Parts: sequence; structure tokens; C-alpha cells
Amino acid sequence: MNKEKILSELQKIVGNAFVSNDPAELYIYSIDPGASKPRSVNFVVMPASTEEVQAIVKLANEYKIPIVPMGGGLTLSGLTLPVKGGIVMDMKRMNKIVEINKLSRYALLEAGVTTGRLQAYLDKNYPELQVSVPDAPPSVTVAGNALINGSGFLTHQHGDHGAMINGLEIVLPNGELCKLGSCGLSDYWFSRGPIPDLIGLYTSSFGIMGIVTKLSIKLYPKPKMRDLVFGLFKKTDIIPNLLYKVTSTDLVEDILLGIQGKPDWMADYIFIISYITGNTQDELDKKEKKLKKMYRKNGARFMKAPPRLRDAFLEKPQFAANAADFRKGGGFEYVGSFFPLEKVPEAIEEGVKISEKYGIVPTLGARIFGATHTVMVFFTYAFNRADPDDIQNARDALKETNEITLKLGGIPWKGELEAQKMILEKIDPQYKNLLKTIKNHLDPNGIMNPGNWEVN
Ligand SMILES: Cc1cc2nc3c(=O)[nH]c(=O)nc-3n(C[C@H](O)[C@H](O)[C@H](O)COP(=O)(O)OP(=O)(O)OC[C@H]3O[C@@H](n4cnc5c(N)ncnc54)[C@H](O)[C@@H]3O)c2cc1C
Repeated sequence: MNKEKILSELQKIVGNAFVSNDPAELYIYSIDPGASKPRSVNFVVMPASTEEVQAIVKLANEYKIPIVPMGGGLTLSGLTLPVKGGIVMDMKRMNKIVEINKLSRYALLEAGVTTGRLQAYLDKNYPELQVSVPDAPPSVTVAGNALINGSGFLTHQHGDHGAMINGLEIVLPNGELCKLGSCGLSDYWFSRGPIPDLIGLYTSSFGIMGIVTKLSIKLYPKPKMRDLVFGLFKKTDIIPNLLYKVTSTDLVEDILLGIQGKPDWMADYIFIISYITGNTQDELDKKEKKLKKMYRKNGARFMKAPPRLRDAFLEKPQFAANAADFRKGGGFEYVGSFFPLEKVPEAIEEGVKISEKYGIVPTLGARIFGATHTVMVFFTYAFNRADPDDIQNARDALKETNEITLKLGGIPWKGELEAQKMILEKIDPQYKNLLKTIKNHLDPNGIMNPGNWEVN
């Protein structure tokens, strides 16, 4: 690799200030806040426009150097760490909110717009509209999260965030520009059909099919008031029926389950948190009353949430990381796995066993997508960043969780390299062949995030 030549070509495209091969500046791009091992990066580049992205991709083809697109870099599963070195393309300078279409309820964004920025912009300028954000730090990007099928407080009603994408502008692996969804033939970015839906090629494929430069994401009406109804129970076997019953009504905006080994008073219980919304207190009171009755009838008890807990859960994003730092030392990673509802009790029981086996305080939860069409169960493993053995301990627990997930008929979400390999080993061979055919055709030089979803 002619590093000096590549550096000077990149400088010509984005300017000297927005490209670097200085080890001190590359360091932060070579590590992940989760349990992944560091990986080396040759260049970081920060384009400001679609044209710059295209020029960089064309250059990468010329030199056959890998490119890894990065938003906030916060998946925790090493997805923006280059497997085969090369260029990390940090999208954060592409941070324009291009359009808010109030009537058709969508936001057209450049790929570097963060969830925090979009949410603040809507709160200020369109207080009647909201976007579903993940419970991740507000520095994550709307694109990065939607592209990994992330989830947030509106996923029970509207599906995961990948399903909220209306359209994409993409720089293909050969540098050409392509628009998918209604934007491919209309000035309006309002829909992904009714035309062959190729947007799915870009979700959960971790940047191997091209670089998204713009996306349109759905917005939703914002109710005036929001509250939660907290409940608890002890046995996992009531979960399917309880969730089925609650989601058979239109009472809730979002539902979470939580299992936490600390503080001691929480250790013996599974918590159910139903979010309710309305325009008046009377509306909320009626919903609360109905939910309390439904909890009771289906094996759970109502509990008034302690004010601090209630406030934390009502934040958007709620402060999810506080429970994860039981180990001290700041590290945690989680496997979020998609399950059918009937497998959730077993998944939770197995998750608690794995935590106990590895000496980690059990910290698990679940979130519903659609009317129980999918339940995402998350298994969180804390570790001390300063202790390599403890990090390895978390990695081992994550691996075992992925194995159990697949055995139970679930699918690991935003899987790190090892999880991707396990999925590819189990998947229908023709699924794999189709993936390989598409990938090889789109990216004959193999420059787009190589190593991820690798099918030989
Ligand atoms: C405390 C905490 C809580 C969390 N809670 C949640 C939660 O409730 N819900 C949830 O969904 N997630 C959650 N997460 C996980 C994660 O932070 C988010 O999903 C996050 O939104 C990922 O976005 P990002 O911008 O960091 O993506 P990145 O990590 O930058 O990228 C994700 C993937 O998309 C690819 N990619 C990024 N940008 C582009 C692009 N422009 N074109 C093509 N490919 C691209 C990357 O190569 C990578 O493979 C949490 C994380 C933390 C640390």
C-alpha cells in the first residue's frame, strides 16, 4: 500500500484537516467501547458531502483499500473496527437536517445526523412530532441505528427502526450514486414501495453493500403526556400470556421487561414497564387502571415505581448504562437477540444461568417489536476495562449467549464477527449463496467493510 500517495489523494478530496494517519488520532478509531479487541486503522477521513464520499470510494477501488463507514461507533460489538485495516469513514460532518416534511411525517437527513440533534431540532421546531430514538447515548447517528435495525420507545407500535426507513441515498461500492425508495422516482421521500424493496440490502449488512449518505426516517405524532405503569412478578412462564394480553389492546406505547440482580430488592423479580400516553391526565388514569387489572389477572402485581426510577425510565433516551456498570471499570457489552414470544421465558432463564456461571450480576431485559411479532431480549455483561481477564470473561459469556440464542431459534442482533460466523454456519445455504452473489457483484474489489458477513 502506497500510504503517502493515498494520504495526499485523500487530502485533495477532503482537505488536510479532515484526514489523518497519525497514530494518536487513529487510536480512538481502533478501539470499541464494548469487549472487542482493538484492530488497526490506516486512515480516518471525514467527508462533508456525497461527492466527497464518492471520490473516496473511487480512490479506495483504485488502491483496493478497505473502507468502513462509521456513525457514532457505539454498537459495542466492534462493527466499525476494520477487520482488514484501511480507511474508517467518519460520517459526522455530514450532519444536515435537509428537510422535515410535517404532513407526510418524515425527516430527510444526512447520514451523520445524531439522534440527539434530530430530537432537539424537533422539540424546538416541530414539538408536535417525534422520532423513535434508541436508549443509546445521543451521539449515535440516526442512520447507524436504523441500519442495524435498532429499537426504541415506538417499536411496539411501529416495528424496529429499520422498518422506519422510507428511503436511502447510497454511494455504491463502485462510487456510483443510487436512490432507493420513492426518492428514486419522486421528489418526496415518503415511502419505500410499491417497487422492489432493495433497502433491506442495507439493513443489518454492516456497511458491506455501500455507504448511505442520506436517509428518510419516519416521524410520528407526539402525545402531550407520557407515563409508565410498573409491575412485577417472579415466574418467567407467565411472560408470553401477559405480553400477549397487554399487546392485544391499544393501551401501550412501549413495553419493557427488566431483570436485575442488584440492588437486592430487585433480585427476585421480573419487572414489566408499560408506557402509556395521552392528551389528558384522565386518559392516562383510565389506561393505568385497565393495565393494573390486566397485570393482576395475568399473574403480575402492580407496583408504584420509586420516583427516581420512574424519572430515569421516562427520559428519552432513558439512562440505560447505569445498571451495566456493576463491575466498576466502566465496561459492558450486550447481546440483543430477536426471539419469538414463546421462547422468551427460556431465553431469560438461560441468560440468568450464563450470568451466574461467569460471575456477572444478571442484567437482562426485553423489548417488544410490533404486536409481539418479535421480542428483543438483551443479555448485558459488565466488565472492568482495566482487567484483560475480566474482558475475556465477558467475551466468553457473550459467545455462550449467541450459541444459546441460535439453539433456541433466536437470532443475535448487531452480532460481532464471531456471532456473524455462527449465523452463517446455521443459515440456509441458498441464503448464503444469494448474499455472496449480490456482494461480489456490487463490490468486486471487496473494499466495503471486508471481513463482515464474509461468505467464501
Ligand atoms: C448505553 C447504550 C445503550 C444502548 N441502547 C440501545 C437501544 O436502546 N436501542 C438500540 O437500538 N441500540 C442501543 N445501543 C446500541 C448502539 O449504540 C446503537 O444501536 C447505535 O445507534 C448505533 O449507531 P451508531 O451511529 O453508533 O452506529 P455505528 O456503530 O457507527 O455503525 C453501526 C453499523 O452501521 C454501519 N454504518 C454506520 N453508518 C453507515 C452509513 N452511513 N452507511 C453504511 N453503513 C453505515 C457501520 O459500518 C456499522 O456496521 C446502545 C448502546 C449503548 C452504548
